[in-house]
Amino acid sequence: MSEIIDGNATAKSIHQELKDELSKLNFGRPPCVAFIRVGEDPASVSYVKKKGKVAAEIGIESRLHVLPETTEQNELDALIDKLNGDETVDAILVQAPLPKQLNERRTFNRVRADKDVDGFSNANLGLLCQEDPQAFVACTPAGIAELLKRSGVKTAGKKAVIIGRSLIVGKPMALLLSKKGSDATVTVCHSKSENLAEICSQADILIAAVGRPNTVSADMVKEGACVIDVGINRIPSSETKSGYRLVGDVDFKSVSPKCSKITPVPGGVGPMTVAMLMRNTLSAYKRHMAERKI
Ligand code: NAD
Repeated sequence: MSEIIDGNATAKSIHQELKDELSKLNFGRPPCVAFIRVGEDPASVSYVKKKGKVAAEIGIESRLHVLPETTEQNELDALIDKLNGDETVDAILVQAPLPKQLNERRTFNRVRADKDVDGFSNANLGLLCQEDPQAFVACTPAGIAELLKRSGVKTAGKKAVIIGRSLIVGKPMALLLSKKGSDATVTVCHSKSENLAEICSQADILIAAVGRPNTVSADMVKEGACVIDVGINRIPSSETKSGYRLVGDVDFKSVSPKCSKITPVPGGVGPMTVAMLMRNTLSAYKRHMAERKI
């Protein structure tokens, strides 16, 4: 039977580490992250709420800006510009997905690189490509890398297969795992990949970030592999009050007996994404304070 990688417990330890670190700093004001949410998408409402709660627990101030669903790009840009110029704001997070009339790439690039704690801007993705330690790394891939490290999963020389090539997960994950120090041999699969099962079955580390339940079945997993399930899918359920339950992209029941380690959904990658957002915010704060030489 595989070991279940406990993302909740790992994230909690990181929150405590950040809290301890923060308690030793004395810069005259707490770190501050600004959240921008456009519209009332229930998942976004709940993610931003969770991020604000964790920030408060650590001692990070958060300011929530809610814009209406009908917000135009120039209005969103104006708010980002204002926060970019606000010396009391260290970090800015624009919660995706955005309504259709808004351009996500343009929006991510509008955020000043030194406040882009999501790491989605050209500048930070470029720095990651160059293996520059100053890069803010996208929180989900950073969280997965941290989970692997803290769970004792070796990456050097190992075959890692990532299913999904998004800007948010797949692409930065590939950069992180292949960079010097991580040293994995990385294959990125996507919706047009042929022989997906065969490629996956060679992976020592298999990361699924597709957004479709049961994408990974037991026959696609090598005996003893480490499986990281990024997917968050809502499926109808008569057993819950909400009428749905969350599942990942991996068929947990059939895959878990075959692998050495596996992340559950929920309670795996999700909490680590939030922990890495807090870590990036603290880094942004320390950089800003150092620049002001306070
Ligand atoms: P996305 O829709 O941007 O990308 C999905 C990727 O899957 C694409 O690159 C696509 O080519 C690939 N794909 C689609 N169908 C496929 C198939 N049949 N075979 C192989 N590849 C296929 O999604 P995303 O933003 O990368 O998110 C992926 C999943 O991860 C979603 O369920 C999302 O909710 C979840 N997610 C979780 C966290 C977290 O913190 N746990 C963070 C971000 C995303």
